[in-house]
Amino acid sequence: MRKDNLNYSVMPLSESFSWALSCPVSLYVHIPFCVQKCPYCAFYSVVPKTGDIESYLNLLDNELKMWTSLTGGKIHAQTLYVGGGTPTVLSSKHWEQLILTLERYVNFLPLLEASVEANPGTLSLGHIKLWRSWRITRASLGVQSLDDAELSWLKRPHGAYEAADAIAALVASGLDTSVDLMFGFPGQTIRSWHRTIKDCLKFGIRHLSIYELTLEENTPWGENPPEGLTEGYPLYRFAQWYLPKRGFIQYEIASFSLPRHWCRHNIAYWQGGNFLGIGPSAWGYLNGYRYGNASDIKLYADSISRGEFPIVYEEILPNEKAAAESAMLALRTMWGVSARAFRRKWGWQAYKKFLQVWHLLPEDCKKTIQGKHAFSAKGFRVANSLWEQFL
Ligand code: SF4
Repeated sequence: MRKDNLNYSVMPLSESFSWALSCPVSLYVHIPFCVQKCPYCAFYSVVPKTGDIESYLNLLDNELKMWTSLTGGKIHAQTLYVGGGTPTVLSSKHWEQLILTLERYVNFLPLLEASVEANPGTLSLGHIKLWRSWRITRASLGVQSLDDAELSWLKRPHGAYEAADAIAALVASGLDTSVDLMFGFPGQTIRSWHRTIKDCLKFGIRHLSIYELTLEENTPWGENPPEGLTEGYPLYRFAQWYLPKRGFIQYEIASFSLPRHWCRHNIAYWQGGNFLGIGPSAWGYLNGYRYGNASDIKLYADSISRGEFPIVYEEILPNEKAAAESAMLALRTMWGVSARAFRRKWGWQAYKKFLQVWHLLPEDCKKTIQGKHAFSAKGFRVANSLWEQFL
């Protein structure tokens, strides 16, 4: 069901939905600002004008207040992820305001994992100090490459030295540091890819996410593709071979970490946990109810100002669809689908359906160990074609 207008003031408070809200959730906060727009980026973000950030922080405060008015108390968060956009476009002062808002409406549970995304160039020591003195436990830095030529081809606003300084500062602060890297640039070789990964590891990072450069619709490069992209398969395969030698485990298609330094927030998502997303373009999932906020800051602001949720998309997933989606998400991870847990949650019928597809997949792309069905390393490499079978 799609909502094309925003006259949405009463949420569909089914019992299971409100029950989900009173239980621990994973909280995602979207910061929709960047210093400039990268030509390949499909995430929702804009370049802020004077006063935009302050106004936005007030809107976030109001959105969280609306959610807590549904629960009659604070939201209980077991993980927090402040992503974007570029959360480090917010100054330390802005961050102080954001922290006040979060503390006002959220009860952070013991053993909280709190992550923030940062970009070299906008990250400051002030940010790091403030995060360390508050609840932030991990930072994910958008490095993309440690090669100046690749960074300038990507039109990123930072250089390799700046990225290296940012990694060093985060690691030295004691935050669990993750680095995002991209592959598939023109002229990229295994040698240059190896150099970037190796140099990142030297700083002592504990987590690495790798993404192939893809051309998305409605982006400048999606409309007008650059030439000479490098075939990503061998580069991905190299990372799968090299990183385990350095102690890293591939726990998800794009994610490698030292043991137990995985991102719990993302794992909750892949394992079908309950999510509350706030901010434009954020989405949430609460016991089968899925919603999406307007991907436009003006629409978002208009609706919050009217005291209405900025939700433009909502759906209650039928059991069969929810089961298939949950299997596909779980298969992104090394833990895969647990037969017993899947049957308990979705029933025998859904499990039989899952098995019908599972048996059709090539043997070298999958493994079943002690009742757990998961993709092999090769399965991760060709996951897109395997998922098609589940649709
Ligand atoms: S910095 Fe990240 S979120 Fe912002 S435009 Fe570039 S890729 Fe997109």
